Order: sequence, then C-alpha cells, then structure tokens
Amino acid sequence: MLNWRRIGRIFSHRRSANPAPRTRLAPIPPIARTRLTPHAFTLVFLFALGLTLVVQLWLARRHASHVARNRPSVPPAFAERIALPAHQKAADYTIVRTRFGMIEATFDAAMLVVFTLGGVMAALVAWTGTLPGGPLLQDLALVVAVGLISGALSLPFSLYRTFVIEARFGFNRMTWKLWLVDLAKGMLLAALLGLPLTALALWLMRVAGPLWWLWVWAVWVGFQFLMLAIYPIVIAPLFNKFSPLPDGPARERIEALLARCRFAARGLFVMDGSRRSSHGNAFFTGFGRGRRIVFFDTLLARLAPDEVESVLAHELGHFKRRHVLKRALLMGVVSLLMLWVLAQLMAAPWFYEGLGVPPSPDRPGVALILFFLALPVFTFLLAPLSSLYSRHHEFEADAFAAQNASATSLVHALVKLYEDNAATLTPDPLHSAFYDSHPPAAIRIARLEASGVAPTAQPAAV
Ligand SMILES: [Zn+2]
Repeated sequence: MLNWRRIGRIFSHRRSANPAPRTRLAPIPPIARTRLTPHAFTLVFLFALGLTLVVQLWLARRHASHVARNRPSVPPAFAERIALPAHQKAADYTIVRTRFGMIEATFDAAMLVVFTLGGVMAALVAWTGTLPGGPLLQDLALVVAVGLISGALSLPFSLYRTFVIEARFGFNRMTWKLWLVDLAKGMLLAALLGLPLTALALWLMRVAGPLWWLWVWAVWVGFQFLMLAIYPIVIAPLFNKFSPLPDGPARERIEALLARCRFAARGLFVMDGSRRSSHGNAFFTGFGRGRRIVFFDTLLARLAPDEVESVLAHELGHFKRRHVLKRALLMGVVSLLMLWVLAQLMAAPWFYEGLGVPPSPDRPGVALILFFLALPVFTFLLAPLSSLYSRHHEFEADAFAAQNASATSLVHALVKLYEDNAATLTPDPLHSAFYDSHPPAAIRIARLEASGVAPTAQPAAV
C-alpha cells in the first residue's frame, strides 16, 4: 500500500521553497514555475485549436468524397448481400452527417475562442464572484452557468440531427413531447447527481491540500462504481421500459450460450429502443453478479435467433477477454494523470491569463472549467490510439463469437445491422483509422469468414 503521509511529506518539502503560499493550494508545482508567458500559452492554445479543427475538417472532407465516389455501385464483397438502394442510402446518410459534423466542429471551435479569449469566461467568473455564499457556492454557480450555456449552444445541433437528419432517413421515432421530457429528466439527473459530485470535488480541491487530486480521483472512481450499480435499476428505467426477454427460440439459444461460456447474469431484458430510434443494439449493464443483458426490441425484431446469439457472443467476448476491465483501468490511469496535470496548472498564472481569465487560484472551479474546455484541443491527435485499441478489442470479440457461436451467423447479423443503420461500407481509410471504434465492415467480415471455415469453429467451453 502507498503511504499517503510519506507522499504528503515529499510534496510538502517543496513548500519550503515557497514560503508565502497564497492559499492551501500551494506549493508551486514545476509546470507552474515554467516561464511560459500568458501570451505564449495563448499562441500554443490557438495553434492546437487550429490544428485540431483543420485535421477534423480535412478528414471529414476526405470521408465524404470517398463515400460519394463509391456511391454508384455496391462494393464487390457485398454485391450479393446488399441492394444498391440500401448502399446509396447509407452513402447519403453518411455524407449528410459528415458535412453537418463539419459545421458543428467549426462552430464549437469558434465558441471555444469566444468563451476563453473572447471574455465570456472572464465575465462569468467576475459575475459569480459577486454572488453571496462564499467561494464554493460561487464556483458551483460558475459550473452551472457554463453547463447551461454550453448545453443551450449544442441544443440546436442535437435538434437538427434528430428531427431533420434522422427523420429524413427514416430513423427518428422521437416525438417533440418525448424529446422535451428527456431533456427535463436529463437536467434533473445532472442536478441531482452532478451537483453534489462537483461540490464535493470543489470542496476537496480547496481543503485537501497539495494531494487534493488524489482525493478527487478516489471520489471520481467511487462515483463511477456507484453509477454502474444504480444505472440499470434507477436511471435507465427513467428513460425506457425493460421487460423480461420472452420464452422462445432466441431465449433458449441465449441461455445455452451463457451456460456454455459460464457467464452469470441477473436477467435478460428487452428495452423499448424503438420509442426513440430504429437503430438496434445489445448491451450489458451493471457489474459483478448483478449484470443484466439488454436487447433493443429493434434488434430482436430484425435478427433471427442464431444471429441474436452470435451478437451476444460477441458482447460476451468483450467480457471474457477482459476488455471492460482493461478499459476501466486505462480510464482510471488517464483520469488520475489529468487531475495531476490540472493540479499543476491551477497554480500557474499563465494558464488562466493565456485563456483570457485573470488568475484565480482561490477559486478552483475556474481552473477546473478552463481545463476541461481546453483539454480536447490538446488530446484530439491521440484519438487514433484509442480507436486502434478499440478495434483490436472488436477483432478479439469477433473471434470469441466465432469460437463460441457461429461466425456465419455473426456475418449475417452484421450485414443486416449495417444495412438497417445505413452505416457506410466504404469509409475513407484514414478517417476510419482515426475515429472508428469498430473495424470497417469489409475487413471485419473477411476475417470472420476466414475464421468460419476453420475447423476450430465449433463451440468451445473455455
Ligand atoms: Zn464489440
């Protein structure tokens, strides 16, 4: 076990080098001591923002024109499986969404500049600073204000996507009433869960000393576990109805598969995903022995029992190959690292001034918001690594499905899902390598078909 006190001593040793810390947030960490001027940091920020936007737009343009070029005919590998109108619908859907994404990315980048260098954050910091109740409540008010403003700014995009793009391609089943009810429930949940969590984090940043980032991290990890536990029983039922999977051939096959793979689950459920969209899916929720398996009604309506079985076998593969655990551990390490960096930046005047806000080391909420506003700009170019890791897991899960169910059934299921979701079969290779969490259809199916003819394709009980 780590000795927190000793670590505390190591850190507090630095304090002697800075005899007059303004608040308990001192000592001044190394990053803060760097001689970066606010002006230089502004340039670094603008350069990273510009680079991110240029790469986003360039990839999107490549993707849209690649898909458009391949629109006239179904790729040979799918010629017998997918009809030309379905292929062209997928191309049109992809192009429309990609172009819309370009507008949104540009708008977001512009808003980020307006928020930071444009003085909106500075004005909000000054305004919340005049509110009664002390710095903690002022910081909380700042978080709420920024959350409401950025939520309001993204609302038109979400509306357009649901009621124009999704509707145009026949996917939307959302009504205005349901949309408003969802919005109200979402805001209520954010207030009930997010506000106490944020308040606790802000309080720790203020009182927990130089190691606050470890405490906040521990709270964050605890919160994630709490969410995993309460999501299936408390939160998900607020938005959807869950009913037990009815008896029948699909259920029989699924139960046999679970027994074969020795997977304990606390129930098989059908979710009324068709209330909002005709896109289909299947997922696990909860953890430990309380895991539930949930199928969208849209998926069950479309796939044959052997196909449902193979899709579930793929999802089981993610568990059996410990992908969920590995991802959770990775996220744990990444969030710890991010909080540590935030702790360093919080004491650096150039960090605030470079982003258009007067240094406010006595208001941790300011640093917290600036950090999460600016962070994506500096991490965007890491996206391909995360995508690569995810695609690697998809291949492993497919291999598991091929071993424990049927590769052929999974191929049939995938082709149906690609067709129903109007997912393009011809993504731009570079765009796909950068963003896609799942391998391109052609590569994925070719691999499955190769494994399907192998003699190891019979169910294995390992
Ligand atoms: Zn998967």
